[in-house]
Amino acid sequence: MKQPATTPSVDMLIVGAGFAGLYMLHKARCMGLDAMVIESAPSVGGTWYHNRYPGARVDIQSLEYSFSFDEALQQEWRWTERYAGQPELLRYANHVADRFGLRDGIRFDTRMRGAQFDEAAGEWVLQSECGETWRTRFLVMASGPLSSPNRPDFPGLGGFDGPVFHTADWPHEPVDFGGQRVAVIGTGSSAVQTIPIIAQQARELTVFQRTAAYAAPARNGPLDPAFEGRVKADYKNFRARNRRMHGGFGNLLPPNPVSALAVSAAEREARFEERWRIGGFAILGAFNDLLTNLQANALLAEFVRGKIRSTVHDPATAALLSPTHTIGCKRLCVDSGYYETFNLPNVRLVDVSTQPIERFDARGLFIGGRHHEFDTLVLATGFDAMTGTMLRLDLRGRGGLRIQDKWQAGPLNYLGLGIAGFPNLFNIAGPGSTSAFTNVIVAIEHHVDWIADCIGHMQAHGKTLIEVDERAEAGWAEHVNAAAKRTVFLSCNSWYLGANIPGKPRMFMPLADGFPRYADHCAEVARKGYEGFVLR
Ligand code: NAP
Repeated sequence: MKQPATTPSVDMLIVGAGFAGLYMLHKARCMGLDAMVIESAPSVGGTWYHNRYPGARVDIQSLEYSFSFDEALQQEWRWTERYAGQPELLRYANHVADRFGLRDGIRFDTRMRGAQFDEAAGEWVLQSECGETWRTRFLVMASGPLSSPNRPDFPGLGGFDGPVFHTADWPHEPVDFGGQRVAVIGTGSSAVQTIPIIAQQARELTVFQRTAAYAAPARNGPLDPAFEGRVKADYKNFRARNRRMHGGFGNLLPPNPVSALAVSAAEREARFEERWRIGGFAILGAFNDLLTNLQANALLAEFVRGKIRSTVHDPATAALLSPTHTIGCKRLCVDSGYYETFNLPNVRLVDVSTQPIERFDARGLFIGGRHHEFDTLVLATGFDAMTGTMLRLDLRGRGGLRIQDKWQAGPLNYLGLGIAGFPNLFNIAGPGSTSAFTNVIVAIEHHVDWIADCIGHMQAHGKTLIEVDERAEAGWAEHVNAAAKRTVFLSCNSWYLGANIPGKPRMFMPLADGFPRYADHCAEVARKGYEGFVLR
């Protein structure tokens, strides 16, 4: 393709048109910046564009998992269910794009190949996969913490004759499992949502499980208009109260401020039951030490195992479905009929924890020398989370520093927002912030607002460059690590730690300190003139 004589230049280039990219574009335009988004997909929505597997649904209530930045938007949008399904979330993303006139600022079907910092000009030079180039002063990575699907390197998989789907890269045409023998590999959140739906359609469903999942019932249903009315009548304060909650949601049901170890067994059971009936993540707040004290955690884990035993008829299957790791250490799944699905006569569970999947052939796969035959394969094997997308790029900062070298031992950064050696680059909802532990839309709004304020500050003070100080970055890595140590999150192999990807450095990536403390910290940094950053 012929290149234009001069490289187009913008004030801000945003990568990704999911919720983060959409709000960043809107905010940048409101500030008078010339901003644009590049997006690899043909439309907006990010996560909710790609993860369209049957059963995909949000696990935080929609009245909370939605934008708060515009009062008219939050009043006019009507969710139909307590937990919206993927099609409705995608409609919402499209509505936001249209309502704020954002589409003309988005280049669709345009995948970033890399970007290098031009020190002389103080600008980033970004290339697309198709060889287009842009210059930008500010580069904002809104590419999502869970956007690079993990496709394990199973020997012989390429020779499998049937269709292979990944939950995070689902086709747009409907997939008909009718009359099919289907295999699902994985039992994380995606699998837990899709397995009950596939089981209804497939002739046979075989689930290959490496680690059993803890799942709490969603108790999804139509959104109660009276409840919606009450929330919307005071939406601004409702949102503000959520921002003071540890996870950025759940202000109507705050955590019980009592230790699970301080009450009688009967009292404990009653509190667990109460929250199990409410559904979703409520159970994790039944006591205040379930995610910080292994003994307290074990009591909740046993409660959930009891639920599995009383739901699943076959004791051997129930035992296999019962997790033994700490609960919440891998993100708790929120389900609709997951454990019940294993009572169906067409559903089989196969353990691959002790004997891994050996290899595929044209008609299925082998485990311990035994052949399992199926027509269609669904990989629900998750993501190269938090760093996977950035590490696939040819991203080079000051002095040609490659992101792969910078992050060789783990994703160093400050506040999750900036990286030393990568001036004027901001990251949204990535490692080092509370992103993965927060209602992500609350995290996104916070990050975008902070970035906008920061750029406003630079403009007001005649600064053109902002860069993280290496000492602040080192301190932040210690801060993130120390916060994880105060929890149970280091006690299992999760994607938070990078442990789901062979060879990935183990470093606890999200900040487990709670959103309010994190937000206060970021505000304090700004108040002190962006302490920990160097401005020029
Ligand atoms: P995940 O939680 O990482 O689960 C992946 C599953 O695949 C795990 O069971 C894993 O087993 C298994 N697996 C991976 N490699 C394997 C291999 N080589 N052999 C056998 N099994 C293998 O991924 P996910 O389910 O896509 O969810 C990721 C995150 O996305 C969630 O934690 C959540 O934050 C988000 N999400 C949210 C929702 C929602 O409810 N709104 C839905 C989907 C996803 P191991 O556990 O043994 O590694």
